Amino acid sequence: MRRTQAEIYLENFRNNINQIKKQLKPGVKTCVAVKANAYGHGAVRISRECKELGVDFLAVAAVSEAEELRNNGVDLPILALSICSPAEIPELVKNKTIPLVCDAEFITLLDHILDSYTPEELENYHENKGRFTVHLAVDTGMGRIGCFPENALELAKLISGSKHLVLGGMCTHFAVSDSTQEFDREYTDRQFERFNFAVDSVKNAGINPGIRHCCASAALVDHPQWQMDMVRPGIIAYGYYADQINREYLASKGIEFNLKPVMALVSAVCAVRPFDKGMSVSYGHTWTAQKDTEIAVITAGYGDGLLRRFAPFIKASINSKEYTISGRICMDQCMIEIGKNNPDVKRWDKVVLFGPEESGALCDAQYLADKTGTISYEILTGITSRVPRVYL
Ligand SMILES: *Cc1c(COP(=O)(O)O)cnc(C)c1O
Repeated sequence: MRRTQAEIYLENFRNNINQIKKQLKPGVKTCVAVKANAYGHGAVRISRECKELGVDFLAVAAVSEAEELRNNGVDLPILALSICSPAEIPELVKNKTIPLVCDAEFITLLDHILDSYTPEELENYHENKGRFTVHLAVDTGMGRIGCFPENALELAKLISGSKHLVLGGMCTHFAVSDSTQEFDREYTDRQFERFNFAVDSVKNAGINPGIRHCCASAALVDHPQWQMDMVRPGIIAYGYYADQINREYLASKGIEFNLKPVMALVSAVCAVRPFDKGMSVSYGHTWTAQKDTEIAVITAGYGDGLLRRFAPFIKASINSKEYTISGRICMDQCMIEIGKNNPDVKRWDKVVLFGPEESGALCDAQYLADKTGTISYEILTGITSRVPRVYL
């Protein structure tokens, strides 16, 4: 038993990818988001699994993430979702990564820099021989990256008139597609219309828009008619629903969609210590023994991603029994009152902090997210690099 590890239930990941595939119209490609270390699950192993499962594309944020995948033999097409800087262009080329572009300055600079490569060197997508593929991002209302819909045609022309580039796709991203509120749904409808306007303007000018994609996790299940040529699921692949587009909501629409959490955060009891009535635990002494008792010291803390604000809510599972954390979570440890002569807790026992049912966990990341005012994404991504990922 290691001090703390993230156990990755690959069988659940496979279940989730298959659940996603069942939602797709024939011919729709999948681009699984493996950014931020595959939402904390380990990007290399998850990417390999994606390949086995017939996923078509991987999405990263930074070029450095693409580099890690390429260095580990991952050969699927990779899309980089964040804007990359001019300094990163050589890495983009070296790692055969498809960037999102959204402005004339970058497109022109990119085409110019590509002059110093051979056609073989700059090819980053097998379908576009000898050319460098880019996807044009359109901002239809997310307010993040992308050109405005009315500028899409001008940029598509710049790309198709360039020496080395080819427009391999067009995409947009929804801001409130994970909400079931009527007001938000209407906003998402408008975004989809604006995206279609941009795509049509390009098409009508005789330019192939390439792979059109707009749906992340929420929209691909809630708006199947918008899947276009490709979808970009992230969180659902890791077993959590996209906010309000949850199991109950989908079931009410007659959509059966059963996800299973993939990660369990597991730690260990490193000591069992007697505590007299009146002795206090941890920084700030926020917890004091009300009677003679025993404390189990657990080797997980916020340095592992077990955030301080989880303390009142964690339902730690030791040998299937539920325990709460006593006092503040430290960087590397936390403490649990187990009571005197507890036959169920021994030194070196396993402690499951959150995860899927089959891990023995008594709560999952969604529960902790709801209790602490965040989303499951942040909790999973927050599991730090010192926590070994163990694949089951
Ligand atoms: C992260 C991201 C996704 C995946 O989002 P989920 O909500 O996790 O499905 C898709 N597209 C873009 C542009 C993203 O940044």
